[in-house]
Amino acid sequence: MSNPIRVTVFNEFHHENHYEPARRIYPDGIHAVIAASLKEHSYEVQTATQDQPEHGLTEDVLNGTDVLVWWSHILVDEFSDEVVERIHRRILDGMGLIVLHSGTQSKLFKKLMGTSCAIKWREADEKERIWVLAPNHPIVAGVPEYFELPEEEMYGEFFDVPPPEELVLMSWFQGGEVFRSGITYTRGKGKIFVFRPGHESLPTYYNPHVQRIIANSVGWAAPVAGTPAPAFGNAQPLEPLPQKQA
Ligand code: ZN
Repeated sequence: MSNPIRVTVFNEFHHENHYEPARRIYPDGIHAVIAASLKEHSYEVQTATQDQPEHGLTEDVLNGTDVLVWWSHILVDEFSDEVVERIHRRILDGMGLIVLHSGTQSKLFKKLMGTSCAIKWREADEKERIWVLAPNHPIVAGVPEYFELPEEEMYGEFFDVPPPEELVLMSWFQGGEVFRSGITYTRGKGKIFVFRPGHESLPTYYNPHVQRIIANSVGWAAPVAGTPAPAFGNAQPLEPLPQKQA
C-alpha cells in the first residue's frame, strides 16, 4: 500500500474563539470539522492555527505536507510575510493548496494570483445552488449534478482572478448573482483548488457534498509520485550539434 497523503488544515481560528454564532457551530474550530472528515477519507491529517508559533506552518510542517487546506478571514494582515514566502516556495515545489471561502482574500492567494482577488459579497443567509460544470473531473466524483446549501454568504462576480485553468463548479444565489465557486490553477509544480462555500457562522462544512469535494480535491492536488523533477539552467545538447564554421 502506498503512503497516505499528508494533509495540513490551516485555520485562523479567530471567529470560533471570539464570535458566538461561529463558536456555536464550530466549537473546536472549522479546522477540527474539516480534519475529522479528511481522516474518514484515509488521509493523514494535522492542523495549524494562526496563534501558534509561525502560525503552525514551520519549515518542518510544510516539508511533511502534501496538501495544505486553507481557511482565513479577518487576521490576514497579521499573517507573517516570511511564512507566506515559505508556503509559496513549497507550492512551486509541488505542495497542493486548497483555498476555502474567504481564504481567497489572504496574502498567500493574492501573491499566487497576482490580482486583487476582490469579490462582491452579502451576508443574508440566502440559498446557494452549486452546479457541476466538469462532470468528468475527479474533484466532483460522487457529487450530484447540483446541490443546494440552504443558507450561505453570497459571493458574486466579477471575481478578480486570472482565468482559471479549469472551471469545475458554478454557484447561483437566491439574490441573483453567480460565482465561479470551484476553479483550479497550477503554479510551478503545485496544484491549487479554490472552493467558495464555508462562511464561519453557517454549518456548511458539515454538508456531505462539501466534505466530499474537499476530500476529492486533496487527492487531486497531492503531488504525483514518480513524476520527473524538471532541470533548469544551462543544458548540454542531447544530440551532437553541427560545429560552427570558424
Ligand atoms: Zn464569510
